[in-house]
Amino acid sequence: MAAHIHQFLCLSDNFGVLVHDPHRRATAAIDAPEAAPILAALAARDWELTDILVTHHHHDHVQGIAGLRERFPQACVVGPSKEAERIGRLDRAVGEDDVVEVGALAATVIEVPGHTSGHVAYWFTEEGILFSGDTLFSLGCGRGFEEPAHVLYHSLQKLAALPGETAVYCGHEYTLANARFALSVDPENVILAERAAAVARLREAGKFTLPTTIELERATNPFLRAEAPEIQAAIGMEGADPADVFAELRARKNRA
Ligand code: ZN
Ligand code: FE
Repeated sequence: MAAHIHQFLCLSDNFGVLVHDPHRRATAAIDAPEAAPILAALAARDWELTDILVTHHHHDHVQGIAGLRERFPQACVVGPSKEAERIGRLDRAVGEDDVVEVGALAATVIEVPGHTSGHVAYWFTEEGILFSGDTLFSLGCGRGFEEPAHVLYHSLQKLAALPGETAVYCGHEYTLANARFALSVDPENVILAERAAAVARLREAGKFTLPTTIELERATNPFLRAEAPEIQAAIGMEGADPADVFAELRARKNRA
């Protein structure tokens, strides 16, 4: 089943994403950072919004819900049960391994606590597409606002274990800044250096750096490479527990 994906910017660096099933004419918005650009993207394609898949409760991911519902009152708002109160009215509250349908497309819910305690990712298994919200970014990860670092580490390990060819879309266009930090802790990584150069070219051309793939992130994202001896050496933590290495990387990135 081919899904049509349309990705665009909302606010300053949030991604709006539409997932469309052309056969059933169903369309989901992944998060709702801002109603106007999402409505404009739908109108430009003559797509009707049928579902809103919310990854977490932060304002920059939910503030467009009301405006979208005004235009499409029948759209089903799906989001993590653990954040139902903080998000407001969910039509469907979901958790680990629940299946969410968008027309004939189906996504499995993966709970990825850390950035927020109820954060979920949506994995369209047949299409091989992951929407990771603010948990996994290209060359980075979200801050662990609501859980200790080892919880976020475990969540990222779950995403890293998905098939390598999985296309990854995330909540923000942060890749260029992430690349600078990644190079600082993994300076000899040739694949990372190539990716960083490609990212710089894409941004200069005004293009997005997403989607990425799980395979590329495993090879270049320092937050998925806490077990790599060269990263451990670069931060003076040879032989340390990868979860502790991850915590140190996250702390350094917070200060960077
Ligand atoms: Zn967030
Ligand atoms: Fe965000």
